[in-house]
Amino acid sequence: MENWELIIIGAGAAGLAAGIYGARSGLKTLIIEEKMAGGTTADAPIVENYPGFAQVGGGELAEKMTLHCKKVGVPIHELETVEGLDLEGDKKIVKTTRATYEATAVIIATGSHYREIDVKGEKEFRGRGVSYCGVCDGPFFKGKRVLVIGGGNSAATTTLYLSGIAAEVVVVHRKHAFRAEEALVKDIASKKNVQVFWNTEVKEIKGEKLVTNAVLFDKKTGETKEVAVDAVFVQVGEAPNSQIARGAGIEVNEEGYIKIDIFQRTSIGGVYAAGDVTNHPVKQIGTAVGQGITAALESYGYIRRPYYRS
Ligand SMILES: Cc1cc2nc3c(=O)[nH]c(=O)nc-3n(C[C@H](O)[C@H](O)[C@H](O)COP(=O)(O)OP(=O)(O)OC[C@H]3O[C@@H](n4cnc5c(N)ncnc54)[C@H](O)[C@@H]3O)c2cc1C
Repeated sequence: MENWELIIIGAGAAGLAAGIYGARSGLKTLIIEEKMAGGTTADAPIVENYPGFAQVGGGELAEKMTLHCKKVGVPIHELETVEGLDLEGDKKIVKTTRATYEATAVIIATGSHYREIDVKGEKEFRGRGVSYCGVCDGPFFKGKRVLVIGGGNSAATTTLYLSGIAAEVVVVHRKHAFRAEEALVKDIASKKNVQVFWNTEVKEIKGEKLVTNAVLFDKKTGETKEVAVDAVFVQVGEAPNSQIARGAGIEVNEEGYIKIDIFQRTSIGGVYAAGDVTNHPVKQIGTAVGQGITAALESYGYIRRPYYRS
């Protein structure tokens, strides 16, 4: 069985920041990532709030973080999924689709995933017009009419990104106002090719081979109507990827987010969590990075014990 001092699960902003600090502290550090390194940052169309980068594509920022992490010597095992954890002993056991590893400390940085709206046609047309990622799939709909569902920051940034690609963007939000940052809301209001349907829900997504229509329900008037669209971008929030943590007995809150203290400690000694998978109230690249740094330095303290907190 391979032995590591620190194993980090997830190569998003939190995991990559933890990797950089783990390796620079001299810990034998491994990152395991089920997809390609970069995480959700790579899905952000444009990032304008990460200090030092007035405007940067999420893909570019994710790539820079990944390269930085590799440069300090952290191996990143991509396309390898952590399937189970045994965390009770002094040595933590990490079981993946490829191997079983042993580590002195573990950082869980598995992020979150997009929520589905659970309507007819959503699953059927996934990848055939239904998308959860504007920057990944938006360019396929150049000059077309697309629909965005949601009213938070993700929906707002996706709307702005798509407004520069699609001919027309229809936004459907079940409330009467956005709950996105004011600067984003103002930008949306200035876009001539964006139309917003308030107090409205998508009831069905229709099509043949690809999406052709969405059925909308106006909650105020009770009216149902169909709009012709080529794509539906679902942006209604996220849920934590905390299944493996829960399976190993780590405490989570009522929504499934891993409970952490200010040192990123979970309910099990030697196990830390960072980023969107935690119950930290802010879910941003900057906060994920900060949490990853804290988790790595606290892991160092736990492993090498120069300033171990009991
Ligand atoms: C559309 C969109 C736009 C955004 N725009 C911005 C923005 O402009 N500014 C900003 O600050 N934030 C933005 N965010 C939020 C930001 O991207 C996240 O808060 C941040 O990337 C979270 O980082 P993380 O490392 O916690 O999680 P993630 O980046 O999600 O990384 C978690 C990683 O863990 C991996 N993983 C999960 N389970 C396993 C497993 N069992 N085994 C192995 N690997 C696993 C996943 O594949 C993933 O790569 C945006 C988010 C979205 C969706």
